Amino acid sequence: MRILLVEDEEKLARFLVRGLREEGHQLDQCTHGKDARARIAALGYDVIVLDWMLPDDDGLAIVEHMRREGVRTPVLMLTARGETSEKVLGLRSGADDYLTKPFAFEELLARLEALHRRSEGAASEHALGDATLDARRRCLRHGNVEVPLTAREHALLSELFAHAGEVRGRAQLLAEVWGHAFEGDPNILDVYVGYARAKLAKLAEAAGPKARVPSVKAVRGVGFRLALDERKDDEGSAR
Ligand code: CA
Repeated sequence: MRILLVEDEEKLARFLVRGLREEGHQLDQCTHGKDARARIAALGYDVIVLDWMLPDDDGLAIVEHMRREGVRTPVLMLTARGETSEKVLGLRSGADDYLTKPFAFEELLARLEALHRRSEGAASEHALGDATLDARRRCLRHGNVEVPLTAREHALLSELFAHAGEVRGRAQLLAEVWGHAFEGDPNILDVYVGYARAKLAKLAEAAGPKARVPSVKAVRGVGFRLALDERKDDEGSAR
């Protein structure tokens, strides 16, 4: 796993870094919230271990901020004794799990592995209506019908499926699908939205008229969103 550890207690941090590296994990460590926020925004971690009380910041606020930005990396929060009553609040604001200090290293390791497994599982399949986006088989699926996708089409649809119903901005999609360093022609996004629409249409056609397959809607001047079409026969009249 690629792990970010945000912890300002030197002794504890050293101990955790050493232990997790010995387990074969790749580790970055920082002590301040400012540093943590920059790293979380720029680098893709599998899990984040985040201390609640940082010298310049509040772990909770960091989690809230990253969730607002759409970063879904699982977070294990470290809390000191006595913060118990606030824990529920912390979990609600987007942390996935917490541990109270002091804790056994094995406990931390087990929790991190569980979080990672859970997020991998959740990321491997998304569904909206009768369409499933399957990461393992890299296809769109309905029942036995499968429409294969290219890696780029899949990456684009992953973003849209993961935030179904929400508008994803053009810059956001370009960064997620083509990387933060992307400096090519931004119209590439429209080209790939076209491909993605064609694949969804293909699935809809193969799945038949009863299946509800979403489509990619353009939101003028902003970006795109994945949504189901309104159905006339859902409204009003009883059948
Ligand atoms: Ca601390």
